[in-house]
Amino acid sequence: MNIRKAVHAGYCWGVERALDIVTDTAAAHPSETVRTLGPIIHNSHVVQSLEEKGVQHVSGLDQLASGDTMIIRTHGVPPETYEQARAQGLNVVDATCPLVTLVQNKAKQLVQEGYHLVIFGNPKHPEVIGTIGHAGGKATVIERPEDVAKASFPKRVGVVVQTTQEIELLASFLAELTPRCKELKIFNTICNPTIERQEAARELAREVEVVIVVGGKNSSNTRHLAAVCREEGAIAHHIEDADELDPAWVKGCNNVGVTAGASTPGWLMDQVIERIQMIGDSA
Ligand code: SF4
Repeated sequence: MNIRKAVHAGYCWGVERALDIVTDTAAAHPSETVRTLGPIIHNSHVVQSLEEKGVQHVSGLDQLASGDTMIIRTHGVPPETYEQARAQGLNVVDATCPLVTLVQNKAKQLVQEGYHLVIFGNPKHPEVIGTIGHAGGKATVIERPEDVAKASFPKRVGVVVQTTQEIELLASFLAELTPRCKELKIFNTICNPTIERQEAARELAREVEVVIVVGGKNSSNTRHLAAVCREEGAIAHHIEDADELDPAWVKGCNNVGVTAGASTPGWLMDQVIERIQMIGDSA
């Protein structure tokens, strides 16, 4: 069995940077309460390992007391969260990915220029919620290209895109939106690591019979990787770790591909590759 790994897979630099911030902050404040606001990334293994080191996550500011340190995760938060944290006397450490900050700034710019803001992304995703907050609280969020027909748009529309969106979906979304607008300004804010991982997954999917996609089930970019592989005609299975791998998926295959989302550590991917190798060797 030939096992091929995608050229770009696993941790992006934004996630690595956030994890470094968490580790450094915990080391700098050994006797203080350090918490992340929400899980630092969408990967239960990494979150659990941080919890074992004493960095738990909280779901709201009401779970923190004055003097506690609160780390903002890669997805960012609305401005009100910073204000509330300051008022509460929290020590705020910001691990928002700079590429998410870019989306927030572009959204703000569009609103200042008088455009009605449209965000192409998941309305429930924290990145989108944070972006709306930075843009003044008013935006139309479109999750799927087919939803465009159900919405109405004013004359001047400005678009930003969730960083982990799928590039082909963006093209379909814009094909639907363009005829409905008199004036349209777009910032393609899909981040480069997402584009690289999707392109590498697409390339891999064309050359193998099955692709195993490793990453959190709640990770938007990992889900998109599986979708991209299926679009290329490959069978794709999205798993969180090696224990979820069903041997029947790869048994008898000559070429198996493996990729992983931007929030998946390398060791999880390596364990999956080892498990596939063992299945191949035992066949
Ligand atoms: S996926 Fe992109 S936006 Fe998200 S943390 Fe990584 S680099 Fe930043």
